[in-house]
Amino acid sequence: MVASLSDLPIRDDLRGLTPYGAPQKKVRIALNVNENTHPIPEAVATDIVKALAEAVLGVNRYPDREFTTLRQSLAGYLGHGLTAENIWAANGSNEVLQQILQAFGGPGRSVLGFPPTYSMHSIIAAGTGTRWVAGERDEGFEISPQTAVQWIERTTPDLVFFCSPNNPTGTPLSLETIAAAYDATNGIVVVDEAYAEFAPSELPTALTLLEGRERLIVSRTMSKAFAFAGARLGYLAADPAVADALRLVRLPYHLSALTQAAAVAALAHSTEMLAMVDDIKAQRDRLLVELPKLGYPAWPSWSNFVLFGGVADPHAVFEELLDHEIIIRDLSIPHHLRVTAGTEAETTAFLEAMAGLGPIGAIDRIGA
Ligand SMILES: *Cc1c(COP(=O)(O)O)cnc(C)c1O
Repeated sequence: MVASLSDLPIRDDLRGLTPYGAPQKKVRIALNVNENTHPIPEAVATDIVKALAEAVLGVNRYPDREFTTLRQSLAGYLGHGLTAENIWAANGSNEVLQQILQAFGGPGRSVLGFPPTYSMHSIIAAGTGTRWVAGERDEGFEISPQTAVQWIERTTPDLVFFCSPNNPTGTPLSLETIAAAYDATNGIVVVDEAYAEFAPSELPTALTLLEGRERLIVSRTMSKAFAFAGARLGYLAADPAVADALRLVRLPYHLSALTQAAAVAALAHSTEMLAMVDDIKAQRDRLLVELPKLGYPAWPSWSNFVLFGGVADPHAVFEELLDHEIIIRDLSIPHHLRVTAGTEAETTAFLEAMAGLGPIGAIDRIGA
């Protein structure tokens, strides 16, 4: 006996929705969900295992509910004068964002976002009963201060979600836009900086705007640059009052002792953990140069992935690459696909497969 979802007394506002659905397939070259494709260094792994071995002996007790050591480590990693009080963490930044919407959104409230953007933002909004309001971007996926302010004035959201650099386009967001949005609302402004470590290192992050802005939240994750996606650790920096709000909605002991121990051990090796970031940026820059040569114009990217256009049949290309044991991402943006910068060998294999595509490939085939 198998019932279907529609047989269940599910919330009316969840009827007909589809869950997050990036395909998970075991293939040789996975360039579809923007992971760091370099495994963590073995010496760091050994240290993490040691920390886990110690922590596991204490799992008869609940973990530190305030994850104090981890918050200190994260504050130290971020710098910018932040202390443990400014930090909050959860099982991935997705959970951080969910807690933010549980505390500041919910039924009767709304969150403004700017598609195309991270699909989980609207999915988490739906899960928490927060109305998702879709703003529009300017030319080239950018958001000017005027555009942000106009959308805020027109839709008066309770929260504004930005993503910088933006997933799936790679587009950076200026601090002027964030500051103008903050001044235009009495609500919460969230800047999802999941890819911050891949942006040019000399440029300031939204962390520099936190001072004096108690409604601004900058979210980060160890899932991308830090090569820790499987461990599930996301975090935010904000005024300490924000953590007080999230304590009201989080489940007690939401971060297991094992997660805390693993993350603290990894953060003690942040230099080694981030060692491949420059290499990944070089592969991203290579994609930005090589894809256009094959007839696929690429959007500027400050992250570890590239959104490219000019694809005659994105779905067919996706399937053809799968036959080569390569998975990338089809986001249903017409004539576009997104690819994560991999290792040099993975990026080479992807570019070679792209160069070998027939009529399903580039609309304007160079030399064809
Ligand atoms: C990958 C990604 C995250 C990461 O989520 P985690 O739950 O921390 O793994 C967050 N925001 C954006 C925009 C992402 O692309």
